[in-house]
Amino acid sequence: MMSTPIEMITTDKEPLASDDAALQAAGFYWRERDGVRALICAPLERDGFTNAFSTRLGGVSPMPDQALNLAGFNEDDSANIYENRRRFLKLFDDDWVLTGCWQVHGIDVRVVHSEAEAKPKPGVPGDDEYCDALVSNTPKVLLTVKTADCVPVLIGDHVTRSFAAVHAGWRGTSSSIVKRAIEKLQSEFGARAKDIRAAIGPAANACCYEVGSEVISVFKERFTQANKLLTTTREAHARIDLHQANRDQLIDSGISSDRIHIAPLCTMDRNDLFFSYRREKQKLGRVGRLMSVIGTR
Ligand SMILES: [Zn+2]
Repeated sequence: MMSTPIEMITTDKEPLASDDAALQAAGFYWRERDGVRALICAPLERDGFTNAFSTRLGGVSPMPDQALNLAGFNEDDSANIYENRRRFLKLFDDDWVLTGCWQVHGIDVRVVHSEAEAKPKPGVPGDDEYCDALVSNTPKVLLTVKTADCVPVLIGDHVTRSFAAVHAGWRGTSSSIVKRAIEKLQSEFGARAKDIRAAIGPAANACCYEVGSEVISVFKERFTQANKLLTTTREAHARIDLHQANRDQLIDSGISSDRIHIAPLCTMDRNDLFFSYRREKQKLGRVGRLMSVIGTR
């Protein structure tokens, strides 16, 4: 099995002292180059998977400034997004092909069979296929999902070297999209649950993410254990724990709990580090997108 040494990062910013112990305990560390910072899941990296959850730091987008907006072509200049992606990719060695989807809060899982399939169509900004999860076993392809509060989940199986990236907002989570991605890893690549590891990235967490009666009833209809995900806040409102919901689904799929790593960071609390749709959309009219990526060499 391939073993990648963990990189020690020197940073020119204030270290996030209060977070660092919790991050490390959860299996994550910061990587930073030229002001671009991302969160890496160390056990997933040791399993042979290049992976990262981006932050808003180190880019060129006016959101409000020096923001690393990695998608959302209707809300930012494409030149900014491409420059930000170029900077983001410098965090990784080697050349990578980024591939993603036009995300629609649906349940489709796209299979990327080759580098040719991963390459963007010439002249098309963004992604032209609709899906909310991707799976592949092609080296040098970075599967991507874009989020700003929704839950990004990166999954890797070190035996078949297949991997997945999942976008799980409340709709995707309520449709168990993470289980669908794992089923696809199993049917396409023969992955086995016991070999799979998953990293759940920064998202709007149970501390902040309040939903209304529509979301509450969907979860109560679909999950017998929904009550433990919900904390009532006021009439017909509750905060929902989508990190926990996705963890539960991974465990249902047979993934061992010690192979599930949850970044202990909330995008709404840490709006200094992450884009947050809830915090920024109303205030500024537009919001940048974080990108979560996974691939193998
Ligand atoms: Zn929070």
